[in-house]
Amino acid sequence: MSKARHDHSDVSLTKNQALVMDALADEEEPLSAYAILDRLRAHGLRAPLQVYRALDQLVSYGMVHRLESLNAFLACRNPTGDPHTTVAFTICHQCNQVSEITDDRLTSRINSIARGNDFTPSKSTIELRGICARCRNAKE
Ligand SMILES: [Zn+2]
Ligand SMILES: [Zn+2]
Repeated sequence: MSKARHDHSDVSLTKNQALVMDALADEEEPLSAYAILDRLRAHGLRAPLQVYRALDQLVSYGMVHRLESLNAFLACRNPTGDPHTTVAFTICHQCNQVSEITDDRLTSRINSIARGNDFTPSKSTIELRGICARCRNAKE
C-alpha cells in the first residue's frame, strides 16, 4: 500500500505510471530507474524504457522529482500537493537520507534573482549535501 500519496486527482495515470508511482511512494530513499525496474518486474515491466517513459511523465506532473546528482528519483513529499518548479533536498552523505524542503521564500527568492539576471527559470533543483541530525547526533 502506498503512503504519502499525492492527491493529483486531475491527473489520470497509465498503468505503468501508477506502478512507478507506487514503487516510489513506498520508499524513503531515492531510487534509480533500474532499482524501480527491479521492483516492478513482478508486475510485468521488463524494459528500462517503460520505466523511463513513466518517470518522464511523473516528473512533468510534479509528482516525482529527479535528483540530478544521484541520478535517482523520489516521490514528491510536498504535503500541500501543489506542483512546484523549485525544489530543495537535503542529502545526508552518511545514511543517504533525502528530505524535501518546501519553502515559499526559497522559490520567490530564486525567481527574483533570476529576474534580476534577466532570466526566466522553468525549474530549479537545489541539492544540499551534508549530514542529517540523526547521523550528527550519533557522532557526538
Ligand atoms: Zn516536491
Ligand atoms: Zn544521516
